[in-house]
Amino acid sequence: MRLIIASNNKNKLREIREILGHRFDEVLSMREAGLELDTVEDADSFMGNARKKAYEASLLLPGDAVLADDSGLCVDALGGAPGVYSARFAGGEGHDDPANRRKLLEVLKDVPDKERTAHFACCMVLAVNGRSVAEAYGRADGRILFEERGQNGFGYDCLFYYPPFDRSFAELDAEVKNTVSHRHNALMLLLAALDADEEGAKE
Ligand code: IMP
Repeated sequence: MRLIIASNNKNKLREIREILGHRFDEVLSMREAGLELDTVEDADSFMGNARKKAYEASLLLPGDAVLADDSGLCVDALGGAPGVYSARFAGGEGHDDPANRRKLLEVLKDVPDKERTAHFACCMVLAVNGRSVAEAYGRADGRILFEERGQNGFGYDCLFYYPPFDRSFAELDAEVKNTVSHRHNALMLLLAALDADEEGAKE
């Protein structure tokens, strides 16, 4: 069976290939599979958006497995915001990462360090013919810094302090971040769910 990844982001594609590639005959991006689809991400949860993307694409690619994800940053002092609105926290339609980070620093400016706890969350959905066959939720826990640190990564990485490494996500090499990220954790759980299904099918 082919695995089609509902994204054209090169980093995501590489990470997913590395972890799930051995389970499928072929792994392709949506573009490589000949599908251009812009699902409207208007659900009120990461899982809702990931399901919507996976179902829509898999209905257009009958017989293929389609993997979709949705992720974002949840800040405790903001009641979980920006959450599903992470990409457009500062307003507007586009992904303006610097504006999003400026807004985050501004709304948290009076919040002390110990109350700046936050996590990145990622939901992954694997669907075939419009139905979910496996789902997983992964997270990475840390705190929001008072200023940007580090040059790597994207989005909120330079504001996200990750205590186990005493570094911001943007101070980590991509290969290191990819061993602890919310996406990595979700992917490992998805793989475990697929393995468990396979084991169960043998019994
Ligand atoms: P997406 O669902 O992966 O497209 O992520 C949505 C938004 O969440 C991005 O535009 C970023 O603002 C934020 N985000 C998700 N994952 C990360 C990450 O690993 N680092 C930094 N920001 C992230």
